[in-house]
Amino acid sequence: MAAWNNGTVVAHKQWSPTLHSLYVESAIEPYKAGQFVKIGLEIDGRIVGRPYSLCNAPEARPLEFYYIEVPDGELTSRLVKLQPGDSLLVAPHANGFMILDEVPPARHLWLMATGTGVGPFLSILDTAEPWQRFERVVLVYAVRTLSELSYRQRIAEVQQKHGGQFVFVPFTSREMVDFAIHGRIPQAIADGRLERAAEINMTADDSQIMLCGNPQMIEDTMQTLTERGLRKHRRKEPGQITVEHYW
Ligand SMILES: Cc1cc2nc3c(=O)[nH]c(=O)nc-3n(C[C@H](O)[C@H](O)[C@H](O)COP(=O)(O)OP(=O)(O)OC[C@H]3O[C@@H](n4cnc5c(N)ncnc54)[C@H](O)[C@@H]3O)c2cc1C
Repeated sequence: MAAWNNGTVVAHKQWSPTLHSLYVESAIEPYKAGQFVKIGLEIDGRIVGRPYSLCNAPEARPLEFYYIEVPDGELTSRLVKLQPGDSLLVAPHANGFMILDEVPPARHLWLMATGTGVGPFLSILDTAEPWQRFERVVLVYAVRTLSELSYRQRIAEVQQKHGGQFVFVPFTSREMVDFAIHGRIPQAIADGRLERAAEINMTADDSQIMLCGNPQMIEDTMQTLTERGLRKHRRKEPGQITVEHYW
């Protein structure tokens, strides 16, 4: 089996000076919502590949990646230059455990992301499973400024489709926005603002929580949740928290 498939860029959307979505046509094996795949480019005679979450629902095409241009990032500084018609490499298989198959039953599903970590949740929200399995699905999406709150239209469509079963709680840390919580996720769990905004409680009996994005947010949120009696989910030791670090 080839290590890479050839992909073609079909669109490239820039949301802010550093935030981009890349839309790619490529063969890929069937995968689950929430998984990631490696994409790559040949740079100075070698292939540089990095994992990126798939934002599209598994049956939807093109493949969609939401990424941030990292300062001096080896791959992202080249990805930003790609235009429709350009080629890139896509690994044939997606991977990852940020999928609902790994999440035990509960009443409420909390999807908590910083920045580009919202990608796998967009894919999950576009499938039927969360709506069949959970009474309430809460998307918590933390960014620095309103201009970084990408995908608002797509999230509004989820809201329209699923009404009261879906709760969207945006956070901004560096500016005040009337419809967002000001600050960071762990503090808003600790002081109760997040639960008040979602109008449900986060308890070990009722909740499953998926965390994705910035490692510091994940660590701090894990600590806050652990203090409340929730714990990391492992297959052999079921818990409430499933995580994916981006770096
Ligand atoms: C499972 C998994 C899924 C991922 N999915 C995504 C995704 O959907 N979107 C995405 O943008 N990135 C994602 N990443 C990160 C991505 O794989 C690359 O690390 C990132 O794009 C930087 O690549 P680079 O070659 O440009 O930078 P490099 O030259 O490799 O520099 C790496 C450094 O960039 C920083 N960095 C990496 N990712 C980020 C980020 N998202 N935000 C801020 N700083 C970062 C870290 O300091 C890291 O040490 C994912 C990583 C993992 C492990």
